[in-house]
Amino acid sequence: MQAQTEGRREVNLALLLRTLRARGPLSRAQLAAGSGLSKATVSPLLTNLEQRGLTQRAGTTTTQGRPGQLIRLRPGAVCGIGLDVHPGHLGATVTDLTGEVHLRRQAGCDTSAPEHALDQLADLTRKALMDVATADWAGVTVAIPGRADRTTGTATATRLRWRDVAVVDGLAARTGLPITRLDIDNEANLAACAEHDTDPVDNLVYLHGDHSVAAGVIANGVLVRGADNRAGEVGHVVLDPLGGTYCACGTRGCWETQVGLDAFLHACAPLHDQVHNPELAQGERMSILRTRAERGDARTLDALHRTAAALSAGLSVLTSLLNPQKIVLGGYFAALQDWLVAPQKQGKTPVTASTLGFAAGARGAALAALRRVLDDPTVVPVKEGTPKQDSPHEGARQEGTVA
Ligand SMILES: [Zn+2]
Repeated sequence: MQAQTEGRREVNLALLLRTLRARGPLSRAQLAAGSGLSKATVSPLLTNLEQRGLTQRAGTTTTQGRPGQLIRLRPGAVCGIGLDVHPGHLGATVTDLTGEVHLRRQAGCDTSAPEHALDQLADLTRKALMDVATADWAGVTVAIPGRADRTTGTATATRLRWRDVAVVDGLAARTGLPITRLDIDNEANLAACAEHDTDPVDNLVYLHGDHSVAAGVIANGVLVRGADNRAGEVGHVVLDPLGGTYCACGTRGCWETQVGLDAFLHACAPLHDQVHNPELAQGERMSILRTRAERGDARTLDALHRTAAALSAGLSVLTSLLNPQKIVLGGYFAALQDWLVAPQKQGKTPVTASTLGFAAGARGAALAALRRVLDDPTVVPVKEGTPKQDSPHEGARQEGTVA
């Protein structure tokens, strides 16, 4: 009976945390109404969350003539670290439970040498942990622009020239962090989750425009992974099997050869042009192209129009197959949204530009890293100096940061 009560308490704490995250700040009465719990149940749970440093008071509200204390998530209380890997550079993003980004750091790196990339990812992780030294940290998730096997912690990504790279083991060995707090996932999946976090519609397709083109699909509120973690590899849907160019995967006429960043840049400018310079940040390269398009440069506009048309052809396949409520285009599609997103018409399905930029996957990774705490807030220890509550099991959890 005791174990059952404890389990129920963790579930209820998680429910309150998620309700505050979605709708806070809220009064006790509003939290009870929003979570479906009674006010009597909510009160001790809120004390518990406050003792763990997860919530704080945020002024008062007056409902039906009675003043009520507002509660909100405490900014910076717990952080999640998201790492991202792209050909030529790496990044780290740190967010807290409120979704606020505390840190975004990037570093150039020869990512085609996996051991070297792991060294630098470990370095970025150590720096991020130092930056958030005052907060508890929940975990580290690496966004992979390719296939991520979450069971083995290994990644395969054609564009990075990675094959079965042991990312989780490699990071654990280099940082000394516990393997239970390290994870990997596909970048487009993570970006879809980040989009879903800002607008939780049940059926969402996120399409990432970069060197690789991949989709993250949420159907009936659940991320679609497929039998072998390959769902969403839509860049390799063959749209032009006879006349198309050969893809990095070896097949002819993949969608990626029409709408991938390499094909787009090639169509925009000759190879010596600065937009091909990998040392320039992607954002900068896109802003150069935006300026050219706004000035009416014929070659840039032609490339944009052709890409928009090829994008539309592939999106119609996704729309027919999945009937999403919303399609979100990210990466370079969003950076050039006036030409690549605005013209898209997919029946009644709205097509919008992501606001999360090229780092949407890293943002999703940082959020995914927070999931341990969102699923069970009791992994965060009770802070010293807070009044003890009626729990016989609390003592075991007080050492270290997040257990
Ligand atoms: Zn392909």
